[in-house]
Amino acid sequence: MLIVTDPEQYNSYMYYYEIAPSLIVRAGQNTLTYSSDSVLDTGAIVEVEIGSRLTIGVVTERVKAKPAYEVKPIKNNLALTLPAQLLRTLAWTAEYYHTPLASVLQTALPRGLTKQRRATKKSVLQATRNRTKNVLNTDQTAALEKIRATPSGTILLHGITGSGKTEVYIRAAQDALAAGQSAIILVPEIALTSQLVADFQHHFADIILTHSKQTEAQRHHAWLDVLQSDNPRVVIGPRSALFSPLSSIGLIVIDECHEPSFKQEQAPRYSALRLASTLSHEHRAKLILGSATPNASDYYLAKHANRPIVEMFNLARTDAVKPTIQLIDMTKRTNFTKHRFFSDALIARITSTLAAGDQSLVFHNRRGSAPITLCEECGWQAGCGRCFVPLTLHADQHKLVCHICGMSSPVPTSCPECGSVDILHKGIGTKLIESELMRLFPKARIARFDGDTDTADALDQRYQELYDGEIDIIVGTQVIAKGLDLPHLRTVGVVQADAGLSLPDYTSSERTFQLLSQVIGRVGRSSHETHVIVQSYQPTHPAVHDGIAQDYATFYERTLKLRKASNFPPFTHLLKLVCIYKTEAAAVRNAQKLAAQLRSSVPDIELLGPTPAFYERVRDTYRWQLVLKSPHRQALLDALEYLPLSHWQYELDPLSLL
Ligand code: ADP
Ligand code: ZN
Ligand code: ZN
Repeated sequence: MLIVTDPEQYNSYMYYYEIAPSLIVRAGQNTLTYSSDSVLDTGAIVEVEIGSRLTIGVVTERVKAKPAYEVKPIKNNLALTLPAQLLRTLAWTAEYYHTPLASVLQTALPRGLTKQRRATKKSVLQATRNRTKNVLNTDQTAALEKIRATPSGTILLHGITGSGKTEVYIRAAQDALAAGQSAIILVPEIALTSQLVADFQHHFADIILTHSKQTEAQRHHAWLDVLQSDNPRVVIGPRSALFSPLSSIGLIVIDECHEPSFKQEQAPRYSALRLASTLSHEHRAKLILGSATPNASDYYLAKHANRPIVEMFNLARTDAVKPTIQLIDMTKRTNFTKHRFFSDALIARITSTLAAGDQSLVFHNRRGSAPITLCEECGWQAGCGRCFVPLTLHADQHKLVCHICGMSSPVPTSCPECGSVDILHKGIGTKLIESELMRLFPKARIARFDGDTDTADALDQRYQELYDGEIDIIVGTQVIAKGLDLPHLRTVGVVQADAGLSLPDYTSSERTFQLLSQVIGRVGRSSHETHVIVQSYQPTHPAVHDGIAQDYATFYERTLKLRKASNFPPFTHLLKLVCIYKTEAAAVRNAQKLAAQLRSSVPDIELLGPTPAFYERVRDTYRWQLVLKSPHRQALLDALEYLPLSHWQYELDPLSLL
């Protein structure tokens, strides 16, 4: 017999829950207690009131005893539950990156979860490629065997460009699905998905695509589709695809894992590689990091953690012919009699490629392509007499600066060679490259891709034209350097291989090496004869040299030695602190104050700075920065406790100190 002593209480038995709202309440507080008369699972998505605002929140735990203080009721139960593994990964992210859980939830959950949606058309990218069914070659077979023999955790797939990594990903995903588990395939950006998606669509029926160009409704639908799916699925997308609420994950692949886009630049500034590692650990899943040019730190980490490293050193297609590679010294003006930045060799090669009805790609690293100063009359160019690199114009100080040795000189008002006053300050931008190519090759069909968001989408739409060879000359930046597999491409030109090297950043040389290896890897994938022409002001620079040779081993040894000598990752952890003030004096004073405090209070740190940030003046504000190093990541987290609540931004594990 049931004895009800207090009918009031019986009717309204209350449960209490810790809820993580997706709204920042106050620093250091990730959850609040709420009540409900129903039983809710951990991970349940609910609506709660904070002040007078309704917000989405997630149940993180059930509270056993009734709290002593007044708690508000949960307003609405959305009847959606995040998988426990994902919820734990989100909590880890907040802690690891010292960021509010609310900010992680804002990133992870789709917007407008409470909205009723009408059915929308699925966004499926279509691209058709000619294909023959491939039989795995020796390298691919060995790679797959090693992947199969690794029950879970990270596997580094280091395969040269054209070694056939996609085929390995597909087989590994098939394995996961056969075992009843889902697979997530991360790609660096949407511009590449059409190709990879086409390859995957050939093998899998209903792939879920996520990308930043989707509308709120499309994202919401894709997210629900994942959450409510009973079958294992394949999800393809950028880093945010890691937040897909899959109930059971067997495989995560990060293709081109060296790409900087796998680190989110806004808070929470997470690395998709680290987050994927935690998520795969939660699911006991495999994580494949694939690249021809893995970041030196990631390779080092895999090696020293005794993780499997699978090498694929051969081209997938046995009939593939390596390209011829020509290096053009930009300091020798005799190489440039027809044009100031297209060498005679490059012009000749594009001309013959056009005549044969084939495709050329002209690559330029826009990062670091600062304006140069030249004479329009005679072609004289301001350069450093010691370093033989063009001087960079700093218009605000009215100076020309060598970014290698620091030498500076006043901006000339007339040409020192011919006396002409027609002095121009020009950067080699992709727009300029395009218009000059149009002038030189008026009949050619030319298309430009610069990798900012709109054009990335354009690349997606125009991929078919690129693939079919309807575009004669492709001009572009980073976005065209990676992943593309174009059957009509015969010539690759690199306008200035050293363009990124003058940036004062610990990864500049690594990035230059990677871009060069990757763009050269766009050719030499088939039986056709192909050609690469690399122009550089620093033809003997090791990064240029190793990039051209696609010599990862030499690059890796050299980079690790340098990083060790200069104490940079993987030999230390990094924290970048930037303060932003209206006046320079305030920025300097506050940066000095914090530096002094950190030096005296936090043990085990090495502090660099304060120095002006590379982008010192941004929209009428002044930025100064401190860089902290420590062998213990915890010391950096401790340092963050001293950070003032306003005027300061921070980034843990930054890939760039600019
Ligand atoms: P990666 O991603 O390693 O640069 P891809 O996966 O794009 O290389 O493969 C390069 C090319 O080789 C593609 O055209 C692909 O169709 C082809 N390919 C892959 N595997 C094989 C194979 N086993 N036999 C023949 N061709 C293959
Ligand atoms: Zn002149
Ligand atoms: Zn110099």
